[in-house]
Amino acid sequence: MKQQTFAFTRSENLKQKPEASTLEFGKVFTDHMFTMDYSAETGWHDPQIVPYAPLELDPAAMCFHYGQTVFEGLKAYVTEKGKVLLFRPDKNFERLNRSNDRLCIPRLDEDLALEALRQLISVEKEWIPTAEGTSLYIRPFIISTEPFLGVAASVSYKFIIILSPVGAYYKEGINPVSIAVENDYVRAVKGGTGDAKTGGNYAASLKAQEVAAASGFSQVLWLDGLEKKYVEEVGSMNVFFKIDGEIVTPQLNGSILQGVTRDSVLHLLNHWGYPVTERRIAIAEVVQAQKEGRLEEVFGTGTAAIISPVGKLSYGGETYEINNGVTGEVAKRIYDTITGIQKGELEDTFGWTVEVK
Ligand SMILES: *Cc1c(COP(=O)(O)O)cnc(C)c1O
Repeated sequence: MKQQTFAFTRSENLKQKPEASTLEFGKVFTDHMFTMDYSAETGWHDPQIVPYAPLELDPAAMCFHYGQTVFEGLKAYVTEKGKVLLFRPDKNFERLNRSNDRLCIPRLDEDLALEALRQLISVEKEWIPTAEGTSLYIRPFIISTEPFLGVAASVSYKFIIILSPVGAYYKEGINPVSIAVENDYVRAVKGGTGDAKTGGNYAASLKAQEVAAASGFSQVLWLDGLEKKYVEEVGSMNVFFKIDGEIVTPQLNGSILQGVTRDSVLHLLNHWGYPVTERRIAIAEVVQAQKEGRLEEVFGTGTAAIISPVGKLSYGGETYEINNGVTGEVAKRIYDTITGIQKGELEDTFGWTVEVK
């Protein structure tokens, strides 16, 4: 594609960068952001890097009312040698366009979006924290902006990329979490928007999360919305099981979000020669395997934690301890490999990293 340099307005009030040890998730934002507008007449236009600042929107802007929004999440890392790396960013913009299709939002030029991200990161390089486990979280998103209360697809949109330095997800080594299988609420149904990264899915998930937290569980395991029999996801992560040496993950069915980490994990497991299957998995099968001592590992996969092992699983009034509550061998190996590639410490044999100069 032709190289494009975006208009750039430098911030006149640069912020103080936070101490690495104080970093949390998504609370601090960098000095600049990328924005681009869409109108029916001109399409996507006016791409620019501007100072990070509140937006001015009409109170009738459609994003406030009917949830026509999409987002992405990925990270940038600095290597020991000071190189800045992104992990499979093309996959995120591909997925953003799939989400756009589902939400009736006009597609973006994926190359332009990636170039925008590169230039923004290049401006904000100094914001990427370097301490072990830290990174720069990247949040591209699109909102509908037409001031109109009719239920219809908006005629105008804003695409924005903001950046947030984030702390180590695991401060004292990987910690297995306790999970409650959700029997009342559902996250998504086939034919709905479960396979799109759109705000409404997350709003719909909060209640179950709140109920689970009140009982001492950190996340819920979602079952399918029709029969509540089959495993879908864990919290906002994809989920894997190791049963009798075989690794299984729910096959994509329209209500499961297609994770970039999930795809990377499948590649790695195949590469290492593990037996791996994408198929429908009944929760009854998981519980049965646990009772018979054949359930070896359960873990979630997603950009934020990479791997989140499940140490406890509660279902039907019983709480089961998985793998004695410790992180399994496969989960650990995947975690070390993916984070090693992301940090440039391991050879990137799959060509997953993209350097930003
Ligand atoms: C983002 C997300 C995931 C994980 O996707 P990654 O690309 O691996 O970060 C899984 N499930 C849901 C519901 C998500 O929103």
